[in-house]
Amino acid sequence: MAGLMTLADLRAAFDAGEIDTVMVAAPDMQGRMVGKRFHAAHFLDSGYQETHCCNYLFATDMEMVTVAGYASTSWAKGYGDYVMKPDLSTLRRVPWLPGTALVLCDMLDHHTHQEIAISPRAILKRQVARAQALGYQPMAATELEFYIFEQSYDALRDGGTDHLTPVSAYNEDYHLFQTTKEEPLMRALRNGLYGAGIPVENSKGEAEAGQEEINIRYDAMVTTADFHVITKQATKEIAHALGKSVTFMAKYDHRRAGSSSHVHQSLWTLDGAPAFLDKDAEYGMSALMRQYMAGQLAHAREITALLAPYVNSYKRFCVGMFAPTKAVWSLDNRTAGFRVCGDGTKAVRVECRIGGADLNPYLACAALLAAGLAGIEGKMDLEPEMQGDSYRKADAREIPKTLRESADLLQGSAMLRAAFGDDVVDHYTRAARWEIEEHDRVVTDFERQRLLERG
Ligand code: ADP
Repeated sequence: MAGLMTLADLRAAFDAGEIDTVMVAAPDMQGRMVGKRFHAAHFLDSGYQETHCCNYLFATDMEMVTVAGYASTSWAKGYGDYVMKPDLSTLRRVPWLPGTALVLCDMLDHHTHQEIAISPRAILKRQVARAQALGYQPMAATELEFYIFEQSYDALRDGGTDHLTPVSAYNEDYHLFQTTKEEPLMRALRNGLYGAGIPVENSKGEAEAGQEEINIRYDAMVTTADFHVITKQATKEIAHALGKSVTFMAKYDHRRAGSSSHVHQSLWTLDGAPAFLDKDAEYGMSALMRQYMAGQLAHAREITALLAPYVNSYKRFCVGMFAPTKAVWSLDNRTAGFRVCGDGTKAVRVECRIGGADLNPYLACAALLAAGLAGIEGKMDLEPEMQGDSYRKADAREIPKTLRESADLLQGSAMLRAAFGDDVVDHYTRAARWEIEEHDRVVTDFERQRLLERG
């Protein structure tokens, strides 16, 4: 796609005065882009080979706190360096920032140059390699929902976040007039991403005031996760340039719908045939697809911490707001955690609806893929389809209700330990527990409002 660049393209663009800056970025544990900005001349001279960063980047929280309890790094270990190795196949223009290109990196050990096991991108690459060894190419799309607010990030910081003003006053689901008003941001986003070599399909108004969704064409899983983190960064940067703000919180207000990141998945043979399709079977679902879904259902509760990584994420799971509460499967049914789409066609696929817009796409895809592969390797039988309103099926498998519950399930997951390794599972269990510890420690506005006078 136009927008992707080779090093020779970058050199030509630099010589022509079009590009002077290269963002060298790695996706962190939270799915954010972290890294450095290079002068293009230095990047072309040597930076394209590798650069370095402090290894606490896979051991901090949102606030860049040095969290205790990680085996990978600590004050005792001196917080040394990782190597950031640019993956030059991701080098691209960033049309929404002046004179800028971007490259994503893999994180390597400073001494051995092996990929760091706890790196989200490395975790996903390993699961994709497992699928490929079985003869399948995993494909995915991660939908992304978010809210747009009238206030800039700076105004919110100064004035607090108590008075957020969504850009629209009413539910704008599929609403073409309201979203016309949002076009300064959304058109710039669609065109910016397209110009960066990201195949945008569409954007649409979502089911709340000020809520939008953007869809990118499905692709190989690592590429899709790359698209996802770049799309989040782009949305924030373009909103900032327009004096607005956006949020990917799973639930920014308990009175409003949450924001999701549904993950559409399918397996294809290595020569490009849709391995989930069997035209003669029910819904066109092949035996392979049934096993894949059986694995995801069996392990759904264990992988939830990687689809819903924060305390806040669990506030999205509520009845009647299009976010699921039950890990069951159903054909074209938006109450189910796993929805079968594209039945009977080569687009037949499973959409996991559990993840919020706050998920890390590398970890979410890796966990879903690992669970699906466990189903294939174990030749698991798919349970009967749940039909109707799954919110009201009392005996259906529950999505964990809190991060506390899902952290315990993650820690105890033999499937994830076999797929990811103990070091990775222990690391991300620690990350989840730290979120709980911080949440338990901090006094919130809710408590002050409820107790200060009346208590
Ligand atoms: P929805 O019914 O959820 O709105 P869409 O038609 O918008 O579904 O498609 C959602 C996403 O599914 C898109 O990003 C699309 O590229 C992706 N998709 C389509 N076919 C496949 C497939 N075979 N495997 C994975 N994702 C797919």
